[in-house]
Amino acid sequence: MARILLVEDDPQIGQLVQRFLSSEGHKVAWAKTGREALEAELPDLLVLDRGLPDAEGLEVLKAFRELDPLLPALVLTGRSDEESRVEGLLSGADDYLGKPFSLKELSARIQALLRRAGKEGARRYGALELDFSRQEARLFGEPLRLSPRERALLFTLASAPGRVYSREELLERVWGLEFEGEERVVDAYIRLLRKKLQDDPKAPRFIETVVGLGYRFLG
Ligand code: CA
Repeated sequence: MARILLVEDDPQIGQLVQRFLSSEGHKVAWAKTGREALEAELPDLLVLDRGLPDAEGLEVLKAFRELDPLLPALVLTGRSDEESRVEGLLSGADDYLGKPFSLKELSARIQALLRRAGKEGARRYGALELDFSRQEARLFGEPLRLSPRERALLFTLASAPGRVYSREELLERVWGLEFEGEERVVDAYIRLLRKKLQDDPKAPRFIETVVGLGYRFLG
């Protein structure tokens, strides 16, 4: 889970990538030109198209590297032949992906870059700290002891703060499709989780009940 700056002028690709990476829990800012990119906040990782309307992507990358020499960067390109690959890698990109690419592959490469950069770490929500790569939770700095289901439930909800998950959906995601349980199981586990998070259902800081719909994580 990282702050990603996507620099891409193609509206379709940009929207697709932004949506997909957001659904994976990343915070994605989208710049459509080199100029917009340079005005954006410094991210944890850069995903960069080479052919921008006002700049060559690699020049934009160079400018970012002056601000953060270790900023992980993945370059997208229509020119996927070997020569431009080599050129891209020499000019400082950490990885390279030729269009068309699969979103899954993009995601896997981003994870790998974040891991290498050690930037995949924890996210903080008030007193709660969630480390998505290690699937570890801390409350007031102390590790939370969670059962595997509680852990899966917490990280599922927290992967998309603000999004409402129905009980049915949580059953499917946390217990698996074959599980023939009652949706009340979800409520029971939410209660356990709230207790460990010291979360008051009447004034929730982390997990909110959305009446008639399900639950959501307050990010
Ligand atoms: Ca382009």
